[in-house]
Amino acid sequence: VAAVDTKTRVVILGGGFGAVATARRLEHLVRGRPDVEIVLISRDNFLFVTPLLFEVFSGALEPRSCSIPIREALRSTRFIEADVQSVDLARRTVRWVGPGSNGELVYDQLVLALGTTPNRTMIPGSEHAFTFKTLADALLLRNHVIEQFERADVETDARRQAELLSFVIIGGGLVGAELLGELTEFVDGIVSRYPNVNRGAVRFLLLEAGDRIMPEVDPTLATYSARELTGRCGVELRLNARVSAIERYGVRLPDETIAAGTVVLTAGMIPNPLIASLPVLKDRVGRIVVEPTMHCQGRPGVWALGDCAAVPGPDGKSYPSLAQHALREGRVLADNIAAALDGGPPRPFVYRTLGMMGSLGHGKGFAQFLKIRLGGFPAWFTRHTYYLLQMPGWNRRLRLVTDWLYALLFRPDVTKLTLDGETTNRLRKVAAGVPAPQAEGRSMRSTSPAEVLQ
Ligand SMILES: Cc1cc2nc3c(=O)[nH]c(=O)nc-3n(C[C@H](O)[C@H](O)[C@H](O)COP(=O)(O)OP(=O)(O)OC[C@H]3O[C@@H](n4cnc5c(N)ncnc54)[C@H](O)[C@@H]3O)c2cc1C
Repeated sequence: VAAVDTKTRVVILGGGFGAVATARRLEHLVRGRPDVEIVLISRDNFLFVTPLLFEVFSGALEPRSCSIPIREALRSTRFIEADVQSVDLARRTVRWVGPGSNGELVYDQLVLALGTTPNRTMIPGSEHAFTFKTLADALLLRNHVIEQFERADVETDARRQAELLSFVIIGGGLVGAELLGELTEFVDGIVSRYPNVNRGAVRFLLLEAGDRIMPEVDPTLATYSARELTGRCGVELRLNARVSAIERYGVRLPDETIAAGTVVLTAGMIPNPLIASLPVLKDRVGRIVVEPTMHCQGRPGVWALGDCAAVPGPDGKSYPSLAQHALREGRVLADNIAAALDGGPPRPFVYRTLGMMGSLGHGKGFAQFLKIRLGGFPAWFTRHTYYLLQMPGWNRRLRLVTDWLYALLFRPDVTKLTLDGETTNRLRKVAAGVPAPQAEGRSMRSTSPAEVLQ
């Protein structure tokens, strides 16, 4: 795509909270200005509300109930569904590859909002683990958990059945703890469909390298959550547990090997690989070090926000990687770009974190607003009401209410929706020993999550 010389082009990379909030506000600020073009490039054509990913995993929410189509959220922004391949800061260009097309765009202002990705280099063997960051991750894990129960129901070997029914989550941060909560509720809801599976045989392990879970929240809420989770059947919480390796069917600790058919890695996020390739100043974990205005140091016209950036607050500390910050950073960043277009000065991003909320499944949750702390059902209810009100559009709100009502009234179902039926069937035959053509010699049993996603 050739540059339009007469227009000032703002190119926004990413389709998450930071990118969409920036584009939305900028659209408003430059409305009626034919000399400004906003382009947003993202690999997905929707913004997914990640705090609701747990309920998509369990099936309590349909994926589309918590996905906002970017073309619906933005009116005058040009959207390109594509993978950003590279950014050339010297030539001020972005290379992208989309489904069936590719191109290069010249920018005047560039916004980097590419988020993070799970760190698969931190623990050897991480390619065997599931991750929990994207919609695809949640659906893949859901299918896998259901499949573990399908297999366990026909498994006659007790040791193998125990392995199939063991679930390990590495990382006791918010994501790990919330996933464990949702997983226990899901398993409680589906286990009766499997007559040969005893609920008491199902084991859940949360392994945390630090000395407490949920370091992101107030210690009293973390203690409440730990108590709530460990009170559930089969749940074990291990602190100071450093995983030395992940294997195809389990994890290794310094003095023990735990056999498990499912290992989920929720610890250790790193900025997007594209960020790593950019010659800009980065912090210890690889985030772009920006000025309080979110401008990249020494790079005129380049800005970064959200999880891929270290945005300093007034105390010099970076804001935490949270959706509530990415959203608000986006609005201020749009103001700063609009100011830059008119030759005005940018303003720093200043925001006080209002609080944190999370779900623990079984109608329980935790919530902290300034000095108020809630646990149990009141927190669960507050969290659901908050997301309901935050969701744009009455159609999506109606979907959320319907989904939640349905989930309250009925048990979760065990429908395993896969898009790869033909391929899977062929692979299953291979696993069962039926001779297969040479090129299809991979078995389901030996397919790791990373391979499935390729
Ligand atoms: C399971 C889960 C639960 C969470 N719960 C909460 C919560 O309760 N409260 C809270 O405040 N925060 C929560 N968070 C954190 C929150 O999701 C992030 O802080 C927020 O999404 C950051 O927004 P972002 O725009 O920086 O990045 P992201 O939302 O990660 O967006 C990055 C975007 O870039 C796109 N992209 C990446 N690489 C490319 C490429 N090469 N080409 C094209 N597009 C690309 C991605 O597809 C994505 O659209 C949660 C996160 C997870 C994973």
